[in-house]
Amino acid sequence: MKPLLSIRDLKVHFPIRSGLFGRDLRVVKAVDGVDLDIGEGESVALVGESGCGKSTFGAAILGMQIPTSGRILFDGEEVRHTEAKTRKRLARDIQTVFQDPVSALNPKMSIGESIAEPLAIHGADKAERDRRVAELLGLVGLHPEHATRQPSAFSGGQRQRIVIARALALRPKLLILDEPVSALDVSIRSQILNLLLELQRRFGLSYLLISHDLSVVRHFADRVAVMYLGRLVETGPTDIVFSRPVHPYTEALLSAVPLPDPVAQRARKRIVLSGDLPSPANPPKGCAFVTRCPLAEEICRHTPPPLVDMGGGQMAACHVRAPMGQKMKVNAP
Ligand code: ADP
Ligand code: MG
Repeated sequence: MKPLLSIRDLKVHFPIRSGLFGRDLRVVKAVDGVDLDIGEGESVALVGESGCGKSTFGAAILGMQIPTSGRILFDGEEVRHTEAKTRKRLARDIQTVFQDPVSALNPKMSIGESIAEPLAIHGADKAERDRRVAELLGLVGLHPEHATRQPSAFSGGQRQRIVIARALALRPKLLILDEPVSALDVSIRSQILNLLLELQRRFGLSYLLISHDLSVVRHFADRVAVMYLGRLVETGPTDIVFSRPVHPYTEALLSAVPLPDPVAQRARKRIVLSGDLPSPANPPKGCAFVTRCPLAEEICRHTPPPLVDMGGGQMAACHVRAPMGQKMKVNAP
């Protein structure tokens, strides 16, 4: 598959001042060396606990955060958000859907005006905008006659449909979906996810789905990337990662996802991680997961594990689970 988006060794570090008069300068390594490809028409899920750097990663792709280092390639071209030409192009090709559809829509504008806004910015005339707004409302399962209503007339799920319609207005290639159903009632989450899948098939869209909830990801993403403290610890095809996770962190996350089969559910051990996510301003040396890992060995305390090929398209960064031939030599510091 031809990659639409290629991320190479992306880092986003935030300098923060603390202590008396802000004399201590520390660095929060929100994203700390991530490689990720998203193919044309592919959906990739980025998962991990809250605070592990997922939104910062998405924001860096969008140019809402300036990367500290690394490369972003879109459609084969290096992305430099400082260039007006790049910004204009990406404003069309990459769109976002965030968690909260209430704050995403201007309460003073009719939903038709909100959806037409990106079209107007790109120079569509009134007739063209009206036609496209009606078409987009139909695509997301809403009545085109409702275009004149205010957002407050709609439920949370309907508002997220409106946000999705607006995201599609300029016929983008990639959608960054940051927790798109987390604010919605459980009963309507799958409706929105199914709508997104249907739109993807129809228009060949690529998705980056950001989620702390693995149950959202299972039937949605082709591939999954598991993030921990700013780094990827495991990547692979969703069905493989779900059926045989390699990294103990992935195992722990998956053990919290209910299984459809009650017998399998009863037989399964729930792995509860001890302790909180360490501060990204002061991460453990060695493997970032070492403070919570049930398998940790000596090497994990001082040497960060690289992502290694586990076969079948799966990669994992774990000293203990690395295949024999790919284990690092233990050399104490
Ligand atoms: P997630 O989306 O996975 O919950 P975020 O990307 O929002 O995680 O945050 C990752 C880390 O970076 C957190 O520790 C967060 O506090 C920190 N962070 C995010 N944005 C900023 C910022 N603008 N300045 C300083 N720290 C930030
Ligand atoms: Mg987030």
